[in-house]
Amino acid sequence: MKKKLSIKLRITLWFTIFMIATAAISLAFLFSVGEMQSQRDSEQVLRSAVEKSFQEIEYEDGSLEIDEDLDVYKDGIYISVYDDAGHFLYGRIPYAFPTDAAISTDKMIKISNDAGTWYVFDHVQIYSGYGNVHVRGITSAAIAQSAFSTLHRLTAILLPILVLISVLGGYWLARRAFRPVRQIVETAESISHSGDLTLRIQLPPGKDEIHSLANTFDGMFDRLEETFQKEKQFTSDAAHELRTPTSVILSQCEYALENATTVEETKEALICVQQQAEKMARLISQLLTLARADNGTQKLQKELLNLSELTEIICQQQQEYASAKNITMETAIQQDILFHGDETMLMRLWINLIENGIHYGKENGHLTVSLSKEQNRIVGRVIDDGIGIGPEHLDKIWQRFYQVDTVRNPNQNSTGLGLSMVKWIVEAHGGNVSVQSHLGAGSTFTFAIPIS
Ligand code: ADP
Repeated sequence: MKKKLSIKLRITLWFTIFMIATAAISLAFLFSVGEMQSQRDSEQVLRSAVEKSFQEIEYEDGSLEIDEDLDVYKDGIYISVYDDAGHFLYGRIPYAFPTDAAISTDKMIKISNDAGTWYVFDHVQIYSGYGNVHVRGITSAAIAQSAFSTLHRLTAILLPILVLISVLGGYWLARRAFRPVRQIVETAESISHSGDLTLRIQLPPGKDEIHSLANTFDGMFDRLEETFQKEKQFTSDAAHELRTPTSVILSQCEYALENATTVEETKEALICVQQQAEKMARLISQLLTLARADNGTQKLQKELLNLSELTEIICQQQQEYASAKNITMETAIQQDILFHGDETMLMRLWINLIENGIHYGKENGHLTVSLSKEQNRIVGRVIDDGIGIGPEHLDKIWQRFYQVDTVRNPNQNSTGLGLSMVKWIVEAHGGNVSVQSHLGAGSTFTFAIPIS
């Protein structure tokens, strides 16, 4: 099976290959340019030495005279003189230089044999009466190249050392850069093994991509933990809420079976059972709606409806409960507001708000229900002058099962789910809901839903 290299190793490998290739290309370029330049320099030096030599050669009185001042060897350059037939006349040639090397003209050539390599430059001049005289300059290529061979050797030693240092340095840097990734992986693994959602990566401060990735993960864990907590809370609250009516039903049944002797007593127990069963049914239906809303399966059944009429009907229905508390109910409903919405959900929205207004309203109090069209929104309000809500509870009343004070308001039908349903219904229609309230003075619940 092919083993995959870690990213660290892959980066280091690519980095090394890239470095060696770059170094090799630049060195090859440097050496070839350097060698060309050194050949050009050698040619220049040879040419000037050869041309200078002709100053020491003269043809006088029928013979060719070569002055003794002619430097036959100077600064590594050997000078030799030949006649047109190629016969050696004067000068010095390096040891082992091939004596039969043909004379060329005005162009530096390279001559090699087993003993060495030389640069050779020949120049010819005509001496009237005598003919052509050739002067040859020879210098050892080894001298010219010695600087380069030192450079070559140095490169051969230094390059591997440099590559090694950069490989180790590259690997160290990659390891350092990837250390936070290791931390991310370890945290994710710990969370998935232990299920402990309180764990966080918590990298030390930094602004690079890996830090922002870690922060994003930490943020995600925060939200996961919060959702998980809410879910746990919801389940335990639901179980708790269902347990109370269930135990009441059980105890009533037990009492009736053991102690009820008359029809009246049995009926009384049955009424109590019925009330608790109704409460449970209501709770279960609300829970079901909220659970469906949570997993996205509770779809709105939208249709064109006259929201004004619907509101009027609900108000008439609620009138009876308001009267029981001697609450004066007023309406300010704009006529014929047409709206595309879910009828059942909108009814539930009004019922929940109005029932709360009555339930938490004072005896002989007032309740106002208003509905109007403002620009491109529908605005609904339920205003009561009841017990009000303390500022510390205002944010929390929308949470599931949250009840401000159950002792203060004992209510058979209270579940603490009403306002969370209201919020969901309004938001599912694209709107928002808010509350203004003063303890002891009353509350105003307002929702606004865009018409389009
Ligand atoms: P409940 O079933 O308890 O009424 P809700 O979700 O409808 O649940 O309301 C949550 C809490 O908000 C209630 O327990 C109550 O304390 C408070 N509340 C809601 N409406 C009003 C209101 N009109 N006046 C005062 N308090 C209210």
